[in-house]
Amino acid sequence: MPGRVLPGPDQRGLFIGGRWREAEEGATFTVRDPADGSVLASVADGSVRDAVEALDAAVAAQQDWAASAPRDRGEILRRAFDLIRGRTDELAELMSLEMGKTVAEARGEVAYGNEFFRWFSEEAVRIHGRWMHAPDGASRLLTVRKPVGPCLLVTPWNFPMAMGTRKIGPAVAAGCTMVVKPAELTPLTMLALADILHEAGLPPGVLNVVPTSRAAEMSKALMADPRLRKVSFTGSTPVGRQLVRQSADQLPRLSMELGGNAPFLVFADADVDAAVDGAMLAKMRNMGEACTAANRFLVHADVAEEFAGKLAERMGRLVVGRGQDPGVDVGPLIDERAVHSVHRLVTDAVRDGARLVVGGSAVEGSGYFYRPTVLLDVPPGSAINGQEIFGPVAPVSVFTTEEEAVRRANTTEYGLAAYVFTRDLARAVRLAESLEYGMVGVNTGLISNPAAPFGGMKASGFGREGGFEGIEEYLETTYVALPATGRQAG
Ligand code: NAD
Repeated sequence: MPGRVLPGPDQRGLFIGGRWREAEEGATFTVRDPADGSVLASVADGSVRDAVEALDAAVAAQQDWAASAPRDRGEILRRAFDLIRGRTDELAELMSLEMGKTVAEARGEVAYGNEFFRWFSEEAVRIHGRWMHAPDGASRLLTVRKPVGPCLLVTPWNFPMAMGTRKIGPAVAAGCTMVVKPAELTPLTMLALADILHEAGLPPGVLNVVPTSRAAEMSKALMADPRLRKVSFTGSTPVGRQLVRQSADQLPRLSMELGGNAPFLVFADADVDAAVDGAMLAKMRNMGEACTAANRFLVHADVAEEFAGKLAERMGRLVVGRGQDPGVDVGPLIDERAVHSVHRLVTDAVRDGARLVVGGSAVEGSGYFYRPTVLLDVPPGSAINGQEIFGPVAPVSVFTTEEEAVRRANTTEYGLAAYVFTRDLARAVRLAESLEYGMVGVNTGLISNPAAPFGGMKASGFGREGGFEGIEEYLETTYVALPATGRQAG
């Protein structure tokens, strides 16, 4: 029953200064179920003035929060982790309703997203400076790490919880306050998260959440405010570019987790069955709506038919339907635009000469469902190889040499994730070094791990989330120069 997990009327507002309230003039927008387009809830539609009030609250809380004990910050995150773990089923169902993914996948996201809270609850007490002797011995060099200050955290719709926790976790651990702007399509999970962090004891003003239908206006106003010291954005490359341009006046610190175009390389010496298992994960997690989703399958000519045949067989067996229904493997895409864009890439690839092995069409009726699809012999120049598909479509093309595979894998402006299947260790090492990607999975289709630095290069952005690196994004360094004391006079 959707009503059971949807946030109550009190938790559909703006969360500012530790309290829930309405948006200016009571404005709201609706959140819809992508499985049938029906309205799930109305949520407060924050205005620029509301966002500035949220920043006021963050600024007011910053000094005390920065001075709080790291252990206390860690324990708040740890309590939130325990609360989330206890509410996994409700949160998973809520996320499945607003985003479309299956409840099983949503449970996986709750567990994965929550691990960022556990990881950063542990990292809060490991923020170190250093002490060193200058090389000439004449002075001492100290470094002090400080929270960067009030942050704007902007998240996408595809992972409504994990994309939030991997920013909120390190920001809380570092002693930063924040304004969170969740995606308009999926704000409900973030509102539930705000409630949990409040219950876990996060002081008022540290976390403020402002859903809005006017994202561009809001971020522009906040980024023009010199009190905002950091922007962490996860979303598409075009919006990321716009935010980087917008940052030029006030120069806040930036983290940009942007789009991807992941190559998935299968060599002739690979275990083809393991490669197919990896492909199913790398392609079909989140219905293909993931920045790390395998976007281009480059398969050696000797195993291409076998790989594509086995992949098509597995893809063809997947059950498409409502994410909350038992037995369903693949939920709806996020909206109608997504279905059109995926279908266009498929029809263009077929027009360019690709062979359709399975799928290739939307499911008729209500909701935004697309059949799992495999294309073979996709010409390198086809549009589907150049842009994010963000849907359940696997385009396979063939290569003959390692040099060709690497060159084609790197022929993209993106540089987020790449996957390699080979039994040859020396080759795996060569590829890890020559692929221009922030993350390389070797013989695995799943690379995300809260203890590892997640992030990209080139048009996939900069900065890292998770791992030891994740907290660095929220810390400044002050270097203190001290003269060497020398021998006491007299
Ligand atoms: P999007 O860029 O449309 O939106 C992301 C967020 O930015 C949303 O909250 C949106 O409301 C907001 N936004 C939109 N326009 C804005 C503007 N002009 N100024 C400020 N904020 C604005 O992306 P999306 O469709 O929500 O998410 C899908 C994209 O996110 C894909 O490109 C995907 O690859 C990327 N993504 C990247 C990562 C990563 O870690 N690298 C993770 C998940 C998703």
